[in-house]
Formats: sequence, structure tokens, C-alpha cells
Amino acid sequence: MAEDKKDVLRIHSYAAELRARNDRGAPGDLIENDPGPIARVPVVEKILDVCRANSLWPMTFGLACCAIEMMGLGMARFDIARYGSEVFRPSPRQSDLMIVAGTVNKKMAPVVMTLYEQMPSPKYVIAMGNCAISGGPFAVEENYNVIEGVDRLIPVDVYVPGCPPRPEALLEGILKLQEKITGVRHPFPQRKVSDAPN
Ligand code: SF4
Repeated sequence: MAEDKKDVLRIHSYAAELRARNDRGAPGDLIENDPGPIARVPVVEKILDVCRANSLWPMTFGLACCAIEMMGLGMARFDIARYGSEVFRPSPRQSDLMIVAGTVNKKMAPVVMTLYEQMPSPKYVIAMGNCAISGGPFAVEENYNVIEGVDRLIPVDVYVPGCPPRPEALLEGILKLQEKITGVRHPFPQRKVSDAPN
């Protein structure tokens, strides 16, 4: 019976295909056996990576309570604009970062995968909060409807634990993603508390 449900939802085979495509190094590429660019110029790629890392455009997309903290990150107190990621886009076609903020249930799983597919490459995913990472407090035997980790559906680059994680934690996740893209941790100038005027 459980196997029948899997077939009806077709989540598992589709998710496996998405992950396999990512492992081949062409995430989201619909063309099988894509040979990639004709020429690669390492110095140009490095410059592009720095540009990508400092202008991540997240999708306007939230699933549950963690999304409130994600919204908080866009407000003046935390000011995600300092790191170039304030441009939350209303369309996956204009986004290169999906922040999965909240519980992923089986009804939403095909939607999450479709949105991921509609994002242009290169694209990145942050799993925000315990629900997105592992099902969180809903990963119990009696609950039949929760996906226990969004990485069962789509490739995840950075995990931000917490229930919910504070906006600073998500900010650290974005810095980690920037580090992953460029290979270096950018020493952003930050005013220390001791430097603040009295
Ligand atoms: S991790 Fe906690 S705060 Fe985040 S969506 Fe799940 S229950 Fe809500």
C-alpha cells in the first residue's frame, strides 16, 4: 500500500533524478549528458563566482514558522542587504537561492521540486530550520505526511539548524554559502561592539 502511494506521488523517483543530475555536476540542467561550456577561463570563472556570491537573489518562498525569521533577516535590524542578498524575487526564474524555511510535507514536495527546477543554474539551496533538515518536531512515527529532510528531494548546499534559527544564524548560512561558492571566507568589515560610540 505504501509503495502504491509512492508511485502515485512520484516524488521519490523524480527526487532521485534531481540528485543524480546534481552529482553529475549539472544541477537543474534538462539536457542529458550536457558537455558544458566550450571553453573555461579560470580567472573569469573566479570573478563570476565572486559576483554570484555577493549578489545571491533568494526566492520569496516560505513554508512555515521559520519563514518569519527569514523575513526578519530582510528588515533593518539584521539588514541582509549588507551582503548583497536582499533582492527577494517573486519568481523562481529570477532567483538563484532557495531558502527552504519550514516544514516540507508530501503535498508541498512536488511544488518545492518544481520551483527548484524552474530556477536557472547555477542555483543554491539552504535548508533552514530543523523541519527542513530532518522533519524537526514533526518527524514522529504517527506523522505520515512530512518529508524528513528536504535533501531527500533536492540537493542542499548549507544547513542552518534551529527551531527556529535566529536571523543571525541564517545570515551565517548565507556567508557559508558565499564561502562555498568562492572558496574563501570574505572578511566583511564589521564594526565591533568595542568600536561603537558610547
Ligand atoms: S523548525 Fe521549528 S520554527 Fe522552523 S518550521 Fe519547523 S517547527 Fe517551525
